[in-house]
Amino acid sequence: MSTKGKVTGIVSNLVTVAVDGPVAENELCYISVGGEKLLAEVIKVNGEKASVQVFESTRGLKNGNDVEFLGKMLEVTLGPGLLSGIYDGLQNNLQTMTGVFLKRGEYTDPLDRKALWAFTPIAKPGDRVIAADWLGEVKEGWLPHKIMVPFAFQGEYTVKSVAPAGEYTVDQTIAVLTGADGEDVNVTMTQRWPVKLAVRAYREKPRPSKIMETGVRCIDTFNPIAEGGTGFIPGPFGCGKTVLQHAIAKQGDADVIVMAACGERANEVVEIFTEFPELVDPHTGRKLMERTTIICNTSNMPVAAREASVYTAMTICEYYRAMGLKCLLLADSTSRWAQALREMSNRMEELPGQDAFPVDLSAIISNFYARAGQVVLNNGQTGAVTFIGTVSPAGGNLKEPVTESTKKAARCFYALEQSRADQKRYPAVNPIDSYSKYLEYPEIKEYLDTTIQPGWTEKVLRAKNYVRRGREMADQINILGDDGVPMSYHEAFWKSELIDFAFLQQDAFDAIDALCPLERQKFMLDLILALCDRPFEFENFDECRVYFKDLINTLRQMNYTKFQSAEFKEYEQQLRKHLA
Ligand code: ADP
Ligand code: MG
Repeated sequence: MSTKGKVTGIVSNLVTVAVDGPVAENELCYISVGGEKLLAEVIKVNGEKASVQVFESTRGLKNGNDVEFLGKMLEVTLGPGLLSGIYDGLQNNLQTMTGVFLKRGEYTDPLDRKALWAFTPIAKPGDRVIAADWLGEVKEGWLPHKIMVPFAFQGEYTVKSVAPAGEYTVDQTIAVLTGADGEDVNVTMTQRWPVKLAVRAYREKPRPSKIMETGVRCIDTFNPIAEGGTGFIPGPFGCGKTVLQHAIAKQGDADVIVMAACGERANEVVEIFTEFPELVDPHTGRKLMERTTIICNTSNMPVAAREASVYTAMTICEYYRAMGLKCLLLADSTSRWAQALREMSNRMEELPGQDAFPVDLSAIISNFYARAGQVVLNNGQTGAVTFIGTVSPAGGNLKEPVTESTKKAARCFYALEQSRADQKRYPAVNPIDSYSKYLEYPEIKEYLDTTIQPGWTEKVLRAKNYVRRGREMADQINILGDDGVPMSYHEAFWKSELIDFAFLQQDAFDAIDALCPLERQKFMLDLILALCDRPFEFENFDECRVYFKDLINTLRQMNYTKFQSAEFKEYEQQLRKHLA
């Protein structure tokens, strides 16, 4: 018998319910209103009173309406066909309907139940298996999609039979497993998992040991993110958070991409709808959408649905990671998620923390970031979830709680700066304040120094020092005037401008410049450092300025030409003359 209840109070989307039996936090329920059933989630239980958060508009709801508890938490449906899907936070398929918004009480199926998948068995009768072990494989687009023992299965099972190679729907039985109790269970291609629980389908979670190439120079060279690592991009409105994240989505070295778009405004989400399906994957030449899932939410959707979306997105990543794939999760912006948490906790009249955010905001954010990571699966293969979130601090104030909490949780920090954006120095990532803690990992250092070139990390440090010193000199020159400082100050200033303009800045809208592979990054940094390292003897600061501006122009033109093309080599020749 499931628990039932009656509505006793309504404050916007927060509804109190008198219950006749046990209910648990995070449990789902349906509230009847007219002929509709609204989905809601229990957020607090107090004796015979439960506070539930309705995922939809509560228009027309009255005290005394019936509530039916489902005995389960918010779950995500997993199976082949998630890639190329566009869903909302409750995994309603937004492509099967017209427009972005569903009618209230309408829920759609995330998977195509009729589609046939060409299945090939991996396991064979007699095999001993546990949760997440691979039973077979289908091709999802061109990616191998493993059909696994459902994550919720506990203990060891023996494979009784596996379906022969052939075409099956997601609901057909593809394996029969026998449990320790001798009972047989049927396994299909689909399973469900509660989004707020991390999937622990792996043997171990070692520290990240290599980097994920993004093609963005200020990330890969200056502050690389590890495969299975975490990073965040804080920045005021309009500084380029979304553009940078989309660049990473398009170019990042990952098999599967999940975008959680917790949009600032509805039109941003509509942009993703129209833009992403058109994008071509620069690595394969195929549609990027073939290996992408988008979870959309706008701030006009109910707060609990917004809160759910990042968890839904993370769970989908964990699912693909268990198949031995490299997944990249991008959330834009996590501030919207934190605001959803704040709205919920305020309606619950909880004691507020800083800026009225819930007191456990930091723990919630840390627990979420901790779900990312590189894992070794039970069969020895590896998979990864790399997570990068944006944060939009009000007024660009980096001391606000969401930025501060995220800073504790994420290991890379890409600080977008208003003044850089104002000067159109894109990406507006501050080269001094930003960091990657992975550079302190000996295994990452070694990885960089062996795969890119010996001494690479030292070289990057030298480049950073040029930039830092140039910034200090700029302050001095500002105070003392062009004629009031020695020539070396001007040189130092222009060397940092050279690195900034020719290396750190990158045009996300140029077909060539947008994507800069590590090989090319290495070539350019070598060349630029050689230009900075040579001795100079300028007569006056005007001469110095003209000289460096000329170098910057040539280097920037190089960035817009194909790597190692005849034109590219011509520019290189011109520059090498300075080094003779
Ligand atoms: P945010 O998400 O922080 O509000 P956006 O990502 O929407 O900001 O960026 C705002 C604008 O800044 C873009 O429309 C674009 O004109 C410009 N911009 C940002 N990054 C770049 C870049 N790397 N190259 C060129 N233009 C950029
Ligand atoms: Mg944005």
